[in-house]
Amino acid sequence: MSLDDLYREVILEHYSKPRHKGALPEGNVHVEGANPVCGDEITLHLLVDGDVVRAARFEGHGCSISQASASMMTVAITGKTVAEAERLIAAFKGLMRGDEPADELGDLAALAGVRKFPVRVKCATLSWVALQQGLDEHRGDGPARPATSED
Ligand code: ZN
Repeated sequence: MSLDDLYREVILEHYSKPRHKGALPEGNVHVEGANPVCGDEITLHLLVDGDVVRAARFEGHGCSISQASASMMTVAITGKTVAEAERLIAAFKGLMRGDEPADELGDLAALAGVRKFPVRVKCATLSWVALQQGLDEHRGDGPARPATSED
């Protein structure tokens, strides 16, 4: 089995049996994302407790790449600190730019082939953009938020 076949299998396996799919009523971060070019939609739910991502779930529909990426991402970030989740975001963006897969990406390395198809990169990064937005918003909710005149 070639690496491409293996990667395809990992993606299709996550697409047909997505992990962490569904609502998260106890969550405190909810972000919607859409990739209109492909018709992908994702709603990401996080339960962030202090600086730890206790739970991550997603709802949505779209192509196999968008849904498999969301499935793998929610697996990868569960139990991680916010800082670790942000390192994963950076590592995944690096992968999409052509970097060698970082060890911490695990199964997510299966999405490396997507970068050969620029229009599909947005499918793969949809849930990651939502994650970054969610973490940013959560940080903004904290008591440490400095008052700004822009508010
Ligand atoms: Zn897509």
